[in-house]
Amino acid sequence: MPPENETIRQLRQAVEVSPENVPLRLHLAATLASSGYLEEAVTEYRAALEVQPRNVTTLAGLARVYYRLGKNSQALVILEDLARRDQATAENHVLYARLLLIEGDVPSAVTQYKRGVELDPAAGDEEFAAQLGISDDEEEEDPFDEREVVDGRIREGAFESGGIKWDKEIERPKIRFDDVGGMESLKDDIRMKIIFPMQQPELFAAYGKTAGGGIMMYGPPGCGKTYFARATAGEIDAAFISVGINDVLEMWLGNSERNLHGLFELARHNTPCVLFFDEVDALGGRRSDMSGGSSRQVINQFLAELDGVEYSNEGVLVLAATNAPWHVDAAFRRPGRFDEVLFVPPPDTEAREAILKIHSRGKPIESIDFAKVAKKAHRFSGADLKAVVDVAVENKLRESLKHGKPLPLATKDLVTATKGLRPTTQEWFATARNYALYSNQGGIYDEVLKYLDMK
Ligand code: ATP
Repeated sequence: MPPENETIRQLRQAVEVSPENVPLRLHLAATLASSGYLEEAVTEYRAALEVQPRNVTTLAGLARVYYRLGKNSQALVILEDLARRDQATAENHVLYARLLLIEGDVPSAVTQYKRGVELDPAAGDEEFAAQLGISDDEEEEDPFDEREVVDGRIREGAFESGGIKWDKEIERPKIRFDDVGGMESLKDDIRMKIIFPMQQPELFAAYGKTAGGGIMMYGPPGCGKTYFARATAGEIDAAFISVGINDVLEMWLGNSERNLHGLFELARHNTPCVLFFDEVDALGGRRSDMSGGSSRQVINQFLAELDGVEYSNEGVLVLAATNAPWHVDAAFRRPGRFDEVLFVPPPDTEAREAILKIHSRGKPIESIDFAKVAKKAHRFSGADLKAVVDVAVENKLRESLKHGKPLPLATKDLVTATKGLRPTTQEWFATARNYALYSNQGGIYDEVLKYLDMK
């Protein structure tokens, strides 16, 4: 990197003399950015924010530099905030769209791009529009009419519209709470929401409570949200209906209202039932982000079904999971819907020990010091711990084959496997941290901050 030039030097001097002069500092930041001094530009933008925390030009400039630095989650948080407050320029909307596409959130990317172009057609970028599956000439067309979106990626011309049939499989899970390590407060919540009301309906009725309700779980991947939902159904011998992202995406495309209603009806006819929505952010993206009529319809229908005004949801426990709670419409959190939004963190040491024990059940083991292994698996998710056992078992099997006899698993086998694996939860926290710091309305992410030890 070349030394900073004369203009920058003079601007720096001027800023030193009047540190509160925001336009001057912004000029310095922009000059630094255009000369490639990106980290230095970030420092100046941040200093400007200390003087005027909500200066839109500063925020937009900072987001642009973050994007150039590849700090996409930071850029996303800022742009999302600007867009939500209707303070985003056309250029901001288009940049926001680019970031959303990188995240794999195609529908929101399309919406943001269209907003940008609506504000100022000059902000359009044909190549990018083509990536999104829209062209500037056919803006009114709904891209989802002709495309299939799977796991956030567009698959060309693969879909035909029309209703999907809800001949969904009804599962009767065999796992129970005993098979879930940790997650004690969630287990307590479930007891209050469905187990006790089923056991003592009169008592709960006296307080106007029935069995059922909604809980939304969020947190890093692999920490047991899906597993817990399944174990909840097992615990109460309930039916389990799992709705995954592909079902949801199909719902956008087919006869959404009928399909969604059919799904809830299926649950209502099979009570007690756990109706589980995985990756609920795909279904409940913020309504303001959804320009397409069909997606808004799905959300409204979903909310109406949750409210259970027309049809009773007694005996139906609706659980939802997401890794991206910040993309879920706030309307989902109103009373009577998902009135509990719970953070599912990576297991603590005690829970890690329990999870390791659970996954070692039925395997040939020596007396294993699970507590020791658990201490070495800091920040490992439940799925990571399962991988520890799987890897150790595989290695032991190889060894046993060599020796021609089964050898039991020992503490050191698990410790070695742990050392060879990395926790997969860290990336999630990098993003969550930003949302928790910069968009923590109503303190919804306080638990995340507490976990990160920032509060
Ligand atoms: P994602 O967000 O990726 O869907 P998730 O939070 O839903 O992840 P699961 O799919 O439930 O995570 O967990 C993956 C696997 O990890 C489970 O099938 C289970 O084997 C193991 N696991 C996770 N948490 C626990 C736990 N608390 N006790 C026992 N096993 C666990």
